[in-house]
Amino acid sequence: MAERMLQFTHLPQETPKKRPVGERRADFDEIYKKFDVQKAKAQSSRCSQCGIPFCSIHCPLSNNIPDWLKLTAEGRLEEAYEISSATNTFPEICGRICPQDRLCEGNCVIEKGFESVTIGAVERYITDTAFEKGWVKPITAPVELPYSVGIIGAGPAGLAAAEALRSRGYQVTVYDRHDRVGGLLIYGIPGFKLEKEIVIRRWKWLEDGGIKFELNADIGGKTPFSELRGKHDAILIGTGVYKPREIAGPGAGLPGIVKALDYLITSNRKGLGDNVPDFDSGLLNAAGKRVVVIGGGDTAMDCVRTAVRQGAKSVTCLYRRDRQNMPGSLREVTNAEDEGVVFTWLAAPEAFLGDTSVTGVRATRMHLGLPDASGRMSVDPIAGSSFTVEADLVIKALGFDPEDMPAAFGQKELAITGWGTLKVDPRSFMTSLPGVFAAGDIVRGASLVVWAIRDGRDAAVSIDKYLSEISLKQAAE
Ligand SMILES: Cc1cc2nc3c(=O)[nH]c(=O)nc-3n(C[C@H](O)[C@H](O)[C@H](O)COP(=O)(O)OP(=O)(O)OC[C@H]3O[C@@H](n4cnc5c(N)ncnc54)[C@H](O)[C@@H]3O)c2cc1C
Ligand code: SF4
Repeated sequence: MAERMLQFTHLPQETPKKRPVGERRADFDEIYKKFDVQKAKAQSSRCSQCGIPFCSIHCPLSNNIPDWLKLTAEGRLEEAYEISSATNTFPEICGRICPQDRLCEGNCVIEKGFESVTIGAVERYITDTAFEKGWVKPITAPVELPYSVGIIGAGPAGLAAAEALRSRGYQVTVYDRHDRVGGLLIYGIPGFKLEKEIVIRRWKWLEDGGIKFELNADIGGKTPFSELRGKHDAILIGTGVYKPREIAGPGAGLPGIVKALDYLITSNRKGLGDNVPDFDSGLLNAAGKRVVVIGGGDTAMDCVRTAVRQGAKSVTCLYRRDRQNMPGSLREVTNAEDEGVVFTWLAAPEAFLGDTSVTGVRATRMHLGLPDASGRMSVDPIAGSSFTVEADLVIKALGFDPEDMPAAFGQKELAITGWGTLKVDPRSFMTSLPGVFAAGDIVRGASLVVWAIRDGRDAAVSIDKYLSEISLKQAAE
């Protein structure tokens, strides 16, 4: 092992090459190229195979990272794939969009002064190669069990649970109010981070494995929640969080001020070839406009970079904290800066200007104060520091809260937390309704894809236990 691994002392870190800025600004294709086999091997060989792998500890899926890095360095890719896919339902997706700098790679402990192993890029490489080589096998149920599970929400939490349950032999139906599978993977996250074919390939794989999808099915709307409970032996709610946080202030209702997700869904639909009148009319299209995006998370980064690609005249991001204190991935901020986005840190909107539609944002400078109870630094306006940024399109990307789930599902007994997320037993993922489980953002609040996958997998284990106990009881009667 020694000669093959521990190469970090003389091999510098290399991430997959990015496409040139001029080229990537003009399309929605992913910006990173794939590693070639030599690069993947070489970069994997930088791993020091340390005794306590902090990368695994800080990966929400506890991926066996050192093992698959070693196998990749040795050219044993099929085995690397087996190990990688044992703990992660969608490794090629996490490899692309996890904020690795805050998770696995941020905790890589190869000697200080050397850059971390490029774990995400190798993870993506392994599974992309497995698909190309035909190593990704269809999901096979060992037996056909007579129990059915209804999953509400075809996002990563619902899909990870669906795979885990189907692999155990359950009859699984996934319901979604959208017309495509993937949740935020398909309609939120833009193609330049995650090409849609990657998500669609998994959709097909799940369908081929016998998972049924009922799309355009708005549960709590046209289809009552109670109908699903009558149909299935267990239910999993994985509906995500979709209520956008609003901005108050003079002019906040002016035309031209839009919600981030409306904007991103429109763009993603257009890219998927749909007929999208709000894009064609210019309502949700940044072409030729001066765009201001308000917020500093992943959603804001996706909006600014989408606007660049749509041909905006200028794109400015207003964020009330500074670069070091923004919630979005720093890698994506750098990518946005390279693509020409102007970041105005420590600035918050106080009013929106314009008569018939927005023409500008009046903002005030902020300064960072002491950390609050949550550990985040407080922000305070600086008196008399107002300035104006001209804008024809303002995109609000301030985060999301849960919808009122008990009301949406007509279930008063469905308990929620103080934040409006669903209250579940932390071990079993069961809600206050017997046989009804929940996972993903609707339990955690807006979080990450990798956490949704983890929760979906864990919830599936609990649902299996719950249904196995019912089966045993029935056998005893
Ligand atoms: C713009 C944006 C960019 C992001 N970028 C990243 C990133 O780069 N990396 C990362 O790790 N995370 C990112 N995230 C966060 C990540 O997408 C979420 O944490 C993750 O998708 C949550 O998964 P989920 O399955 O819980 O919910 P979702 O992905 O939201 O899926 C929920 C599904 O439930 C469906 N649904 C909701 N209500 C109903 C109903 N009543 N009936 C039927 N169906 C319903 C929805 O249509 C949706 O398909 C981003 C989020 C956003 C908004
Ligand atoms: S799933 Fe995410 S955190 Fe875990 S190893 Fe992969 S990229 Fe890192």
